[in-house]
Amino acid sequence: MTQSFNALYQTSSSEQAYELALSMIDQVFAAKYCFVGRLSDDGLQVRTLAFHSQGQVLDNIEYELESTPCADAICSVDVCIYQDQVAALFPHDAMLNELGIKAYLGMTMRDVSRRPIGILVAMFEQPQNFSAQSLQWFQDLAFIVAAQARHEIDIERKNAMLAELSLRNIVFEQSKEAIMITDAENKILRVNPAFEFYTGYHESELLGRSPGLLASGRHDQQFYANMWQQLHTHGHWRGEVYNRRKTGEVYPEELSITVNRDEQGEISHYIGLFRDISDWKESERQLRFYASQEPLTGLHNRRSFLERVEQHISLHHDQNTPSSLLFLNLDRFKDINDLYGPEVGDKVLVAVALRLQHCVVSSDVLSRYGGDEFTLLLANSTKQQAYACAQRILTHVCQPVRLGELNIELSCSLGIAHIDEQIDSATVFVRNANHAMLSAKRTQSQSIAIYSDEIEGQYLRKIQLRDKLAKALKANELTVAYQPIVNFRSGKIIKFEALARWHDAELGTIDPEEFIVIAEEFGLISQLGQFVLQRALADLSTLHKRGYPHICLSVNRSVSEFNQLLQPVEAILAALHEHQIATHQLTIEVTESVAIGVQQVQDQLNILREQGVKVALDDFCTGYSSLSHLIDLRADYLKIDKSFTHKLLSEHKHQVVIASLINIASELDMEVIAEGVDCADQHQQLHDYGCHFSQGYYYSKPVSLPQALALLEQADSFVDTL
Ligand code: C2E
Ligand code: MG
Ligand code: MG
Repeated sequence: MTQSFNALYQTSSSEQAYELALSMIDQVFAAKYCFVGRLSDDGLQVRTLAFHSQGQVLDNIEYELESTPCADAICSVDVCIYQDQVAALFPHDAMLNELGIKAYLGMTMRDVSRRPIGILVAMFEQPQNFSAQSLQWFQDLAFIVAAQARHEIDIERKNAMLAELSLRNIVFEQSKEAIMITDAENKILRVNPAFEFYTGYHESELLGRSPGLLASGRHDQQFYANMWQQLHTHGHWRGEVYNRRKTGEVYPEELSITVNRDEQGEISHYIGLFRDISDWKESERQLRFYASQEPLTGLHNRRSFLERVEQHISLHHDQNTPSSLLFLNLDRFKDINDLYGPEVGDKVLVAVALRLQHCVVSSDVLSRYGGDEFTLLLANSTKQQAYACAQRILTHVCQPVRLGELNIELSCSLGIAHIDEQIDSATVFVRNANHAMLSAKRTQSQSIAIYSDEIEGQYLRKIQLRDKLAKALKANELTVAYQPIVNFRSGKIIKFEALARWHDAELGTIDPEEFIVIAEEFGLISQLGQFVLQRALADLSTLHKRGYPHICLSVNRSVSEFNQLLQPVEAILAALHEHQIATHQLTIEVTESVAIGVQQVQDQLNILREQGVKVALDDFCTGYSSLSHLIDLRADYLKIDKSFTHKLLSEHKHQVVIASLINIASELDMEVIAEGVDCADQHQQLHDYGCHFSQGYYYSKPVSLPQALALLEQADSFVDTL
């Protein structure tokens, strides 16, 4: 007895259909077990979708297909029938054996491509003798159930596809990377929001158009030809491209294009992915900038400059190209920093950098070498051209810098080195120019020096002196000489100027003009100044004890000593106290030219004066002398420099200047000491002008303490004795 399948077509779900099909099997065959199963795990297993035992619904199970009658059934196109002894035929099928199955019916369910998708099974405890009609019915039932299973699988696949599609869509829509899909003719089909964001185009403006509309024009035909060739050979291309936004702005992007092919292997789409790398490029540019540029001025930094000089030296050795190196150092830049603060100092450096840039051509390499030092490599320039350039620079840089209310005077020193065979490294080339610059600075501010063997010799001597001086100071090997200062009115010695002396066993006596500069330059001046002060005060104390208590002392102090942390004012006052010398008996001589303008120096000198210490402006009439300084700088004495005194007799204008200076100083409550008086006529003339004091070889050269004592003893009055 078979059943119509009408009811099966009325079911509203697969589950219902499977249940109904099994119920029909129950009715037609009264099978012990029956089930609908789906192949799973790539066809290795069966998972039941509905399972009945004698009309009762059982829980679904899963079993291995191998060595079961179902494996046979799957391979068969017809119903697989075992009427008896099936368990014995499949001894490894535990389920068959456990359930005591004798007969078996199985029919494979297939998809439209005839691939097995599942199985319909009925199993019996008793041997069976199936009629052809019932087998046909079972086969037909299996077809209908298979149709249901296919439908279910289709729905599952569709859902999975939809899920994947929506996932893809999310990725497409949400991606931070810009995505563009073009068709086989490279016409734009889709772009994502990130693409719209970066390019500024809306998708609707791009559809059907070529991606060429984004081209920036920065890449040539060859670039695109290579790109297409690689795309067609390897299916992929990746690189950096400059494209143009809708606004016209050109930007860099990292682009990767993939070719998509259909099942026949024909190109179906091109998928382009890019990200805007403007920020990366900017960071990269900045990194490169800071690696080679000095941040304040934007000029090359020292490292980058030296690299270029190295390249140039190899070029010179290969092709004999001439070149010169200029080394520039600002004069007294430290004073600018101290006086106006580092912000103003920075602005001055930037102004200098700009002025230098105006003096060079593009092939020159200009650097801020460090602090207030600038270097310039003049490639392919002759010695004359280099000198002309140095002169141009000197004129341009040595102009006042105006910063708001401030007007800052600038001057600099320049050294030039020319390339030659001896120069084998950038450091040597720069060092030579630097030594030339130092030589220029020593000679005269605002000047140019060209490197020579003589300069090198001077430099080496300087280094040698520096080392020896440091040792000599440590070993207390310096001495002090005393030169008398005579009162014109009384003709008597009223004080001595203490002058440092240095005799080196190897180099002989070294001129103070030479070693004082070195002490200043290499930070030894405070030590030297303190030594002279202590020794001279001790010697003065001796003179006082030997019956000359009225004798005073003048010591020289470099202005740089007042910039040091050692608190020179306190050190001076403490030394006076220690040697029991009255403050008014000490005069501090400072060079007039450097005392001006540095407030810190003036403040300290004023404190000393308030304590009774006298201040003398040394070297007056040299350098920067101006009468207005006399009013600004409150001093007790003016010392007319020996170079001026020496011209007193020969040059009328010097006579006029000295005569008026003595008058003006007197008006301002200052006294004048004429230095370098070395003959009776000079003495007489200065006396006639009303000069207050006099010092020079005419009276005595600087002498030792015993000789100074002897001078005091033998010459009560120079005026009388001379
Ligand atoms: P200064 O302070 O102007 O000292 C006077 C210089 O003129 C001394 O040279 C002295 O020997 C020289 N002199 C004096 N009368 C005559 C003369 O009639 N004819 C000639 N041709 N020269 C004369 P000195 O001792 O060589 O000192 C040179 C400079 O070195 C000094 O110039 C001073 O600026 C500096 N100096 C010397 N000792 C010290 C010191 O202890 N500390 C500091 N900071 N500087 C010192
Ligand atoms: Mg002096
Ligand atoms: Mg002097």
